[in-house]
Amino acid sequence: MHIAILGGGLMGTASAFFLLTHPKAPKSLKVTLIDRGAIGAGATVASFGNVRRQGRDFRQMALAHHSLALWIRLETLLGRDVEFRATGHVRAVFHQEALKDMQNFASAALQHGLEIDQLDQADIRRRFPFLSKDVIAGSFSPQDGSGNPRLVAPAFARAAVRHGLVLRDHTQVVSIRPASSGFRIEAPDEVIEADLLLNTAGAWGGQVADRLGEPAPLTPYAPQMGVTEPLEHRILPVVGVWAHKAEEVIYCRQVERGNIVFGGGPREDVTLTPGHAKVNPHRTLRQLEVLTRLIPALRHTTVIRTWSGCEGYVDDMLPVMGPSARHDGLFHAFGFCGHGFQLGPGVGAEMAELILTGASLTDTNPFHIARFQNETNSGI
Ligand SMILES: Cc1cc2nc3c(=O)[nH]c(=O)nc-3n(C[C@H](O)[C@H](O)[C@H](O)COP(=O)(O)OP(=O)(O)OC[C@H]3O[C@@H](n4cnc5c(N)ncnc54)[C@H](O)[C@@H]3O)c2cc1C
Repeated sequence: MHIAILGGGLMGTASAFFLLTHPKAPKSLKVTLIDRGAIGAGATVASFGNVRRQGRDFRQMALAHHSLALWIRLETLLGRDVEFRATGHVRAVFHQEALKDMQNFASAALQHGLEIDQLDQADIRRRFPFLSKDVIAGSFSPQDGSGNPRLVAPAFARAAVRHGLVLRDHTQVVSIRPASSGFRIEAPDEVIEADLLLNTAGAWGGQVADRLGEPAPLTPYAPQMGVTEPLEHRILPVVGVWAHKAEEVIYCRQVERGNIVFGGGPREDVTLTPGHAKVNPHRTLRQLEVLTRLIPALRHTTVIRTWSGCEGYVDDMLPVMGPSARHDGLFHAFGFCGHGFQLGPGVGAEMAELILTGASLTDTNPFHIARFQNETNSGI
């Protein structure tokens, strides 16, 4: 059995690893991972690195729990520390409407297996003294944390190569066509014939699906990121806010070397060709206003770098995951709407299970591409 995976971000590399290490993988299994660029250099490397379940759509919660369990074991599984740290994730509340959102989420989350601590103003001051005095409450999810977006996809790919993965990075795909049995993927120097095809092309996954005759409504956007000079280490958890408007959204974390990585606010537009996401400096200035409202001590720090990445947002803000509704042997896992870094290891394990056994580890029905079967092909 030959499985081709198109797209070597976190989803493609994690899928390759879990396919090749699956206990039910046939002895004859061959997996080829194709990316037109370097492994992990798409949305994955640009990620903020939040491994967060707090605030997540409940339809993704079972997958997110499974993924967290894998993040905890990644160093053992991959033989490399990908800097997952369960530092906890605190979310601050500035006003009454946000307080209601936090309370509603916390009570509903219990039914989905997530317990978060609700903190009043005194608790917040005591536990997180770096937060502004204007913060009136907050919530804390103790097991959430962060990972290093530069390490994780290459670590999955290297581990998969040790299990036999055939890696075709820097390989531009010329055409992908269903064949009499399986799929024919044409690259400039090679034709890859595979029995099964997994589409993990990230923001470009919608184009790939469209070309194979099953469109999904996906728009690329560019979330905006920045990092400060290194500072004395004072902030252990990942920090965010319960926000009502995109303008209020801010999140940050202090890496072990002391720099504060931050993001938030509205995303910029980006086109899939060439897919180079740019930073809007006006947004960075606005982010710094919102960041210093949250953590006033950051008022005089220097930003040393800004960046962005091209991420796919599906209209209903849920990913496309599971078997094709049109072609036997075609599977999709794309369009993670800015939330895929946390889900990545779980998505890899889930796709391996679906492909090799036809069963699923968690409920993936809400993510099936058939929900868009009335979409029209864009004719790309
Ligand atoms: C700035 C930013 C911050 C983020 N922060 C967070 C966060 O804190 N927490 C969180 O959970 N999520 C976050 N996300 C989302 C998360 O990073 C993504 O959901 C996740 O990395 C998507 O992984 P992927 O493998 O689907 O896509 P990608 O990493 O984009 O990989 C897709 C790959 O497919 C390749 N490809 C595409 N088309 C073709 C083709 N035709 N032929 C060959 N190769 C192709 C690309 O080169 C690319 O390498 C963030 C995203 C961005 C952009």
